[in-house]
Amino acid sequence: MTKILVIEDEESVRENILDLLEAEDFEAISAPNGKVGVDLALEESPDLILCDLMMPEINGFAVLSLLREKFNTSSVPFIFLTARSAKADFRQGMELGADDYLTKPFTRGELLSAISTRLERQAAIIKNPASHADVKAYPREMRVIESTLRRTIEQGNFHEFQMYYQPIVDIKTGKMISVESLIRWWSTKLGLVSPAELIPLAESTGLIVPLSDWILETVCKQTRIWLDNGLEAVPGCVNISAAQCMQPLFVEKVANCLSKNNLEPKYLELEFSETTIMQDVNKIIDILQELKSLGVKITMDDFGTGNSSLIYLKRIPLNTIKVDNYFIYNLHQDGQKLAITKALIQMGQNLNLKVVAEGVETVSELKILRDLRCHAMQGFLFSQPLQSADFEQMLISKQTLNI
Ligand code: C2E
Ligand code: MG
Ligand code: MG
Repeated sequence: MTKILVIEDEESVRENILDLLEAEDFEAISAPNGKVGVDLALEESPDLILCDLMMPEINGFAVLSLLREKFNTSSVPFIFLTARSAKADFRQGMELGADDYLTKPFTRGELLSAISTRLERQAAIIKNPASHADVKAYPREMRVIESTLRRTIEQGNFHEFQMYYQPIVDIKTGKMISVESLIRWWSTKLGLVSPAELIPLAESTGLIVPLSDWILETVCKQTRIWLDNGLEAVPGCVNISAAQCMQPLFVEKVANCLSKNNLEPKYLELEFSETTIMQDVNKIIDILQELKSLGVKITMDDFGTGNSSLIYLKRIPLNTIKVDNYFIYNLHQDGQKLAITKALIQMGQNLNLKVVAEGVETVSELKILRDLRCHAMQGFLFSQPLQSADFEQMLISKQTLNI
């Protein structure tokens, strides 16, 4: 029997969830506060944890951090329950390793769907861990990661880094239109380190400069190889961090990388998160203008999670916006997400921008996106991020989305 631990300080909410879970034949155990919750999780090894965010003394973030540090509970699926829907909370939870977020009040259907999706995902990860490159790594002491990263980069051990490739497909034609490159660090000392840990650390230590030079070079070189091998290579999308694009020679570096690899600019797209763009919007607009005049395409990533004003949106030289995973997840069962996504897609269309939905995992999500005339999708439903050799097979077979 699947065992679910509910950590919730409000008695009526807790009892409600327990009744619901028991009616669905789950074994439900509960804790009225974070401390009891952590102890119970360690004793009982539940299959999944539902945890309230706002609790006195030990709140949901602290519960999650404590559990992620312990071997037995480091990878148990963890869903936050919260009355607050602030984006910062969502981000903080996800960075700590939460798997999902339910905003109270939620319906029975929303709760059960979140639970079943996470249990299915966990079962797939256990069955085939190697294919899930984004399995959450155990949180580690920041200082240890930092010193290891410094040593790795200073010693030029770039073979520990690997670019993964995740296709982006046109929803109407099913054809691949571009591919996003996503870094993985297979540290000999630490094991797999996720980009959510790696990138902020690389940024805050300045190590992002040599690292991002390597990323750009690797992706351009790889695209050149695919073209030379006669494959129908698609533009490679590279994520650009804030510290990286603020470097004085950033635009020159991009131009040099293209010419060094004899690559037409149409084969490169640069992704800037909405938060990065809004950090210093006027300066970034100048940089983006320069990049655009090179012929490189520009995407605003994680759209909906920052706070760009519509006035700026008109001025930012964009080609594409990517609607953040958060809005897509369970879109078909969440009226608010649906309304927001619909508005974002419409706005993109009105501004003549291509709209890509990120994190599409289910056919139901895809169907809605198709109805909303979203241009393209990226997500596990079509493909996980793949190693270059596996992605090359996809290029060779010209795999399309057939749903
Ligand atoms: P992002 O650019 O928004 O990338 C999309 C993230 O969503 C990736 O996480 C990808 O693996 C994940 N994803 C794709 N499809 C699905 C899906 O169907 N469901 C779910 N739940 N997730 C999906 P990843 O690879 O862990 O990267 C996280 C973030 O780290 C990226 O977000 C990006 O901001 C940053 N990052 C990754 N690689 C690089 C890089 O080479 N350079 C820089 N500067 N940042 C990078
Ligand atoms: Mg991206
Ligand atoms: Mg994104």
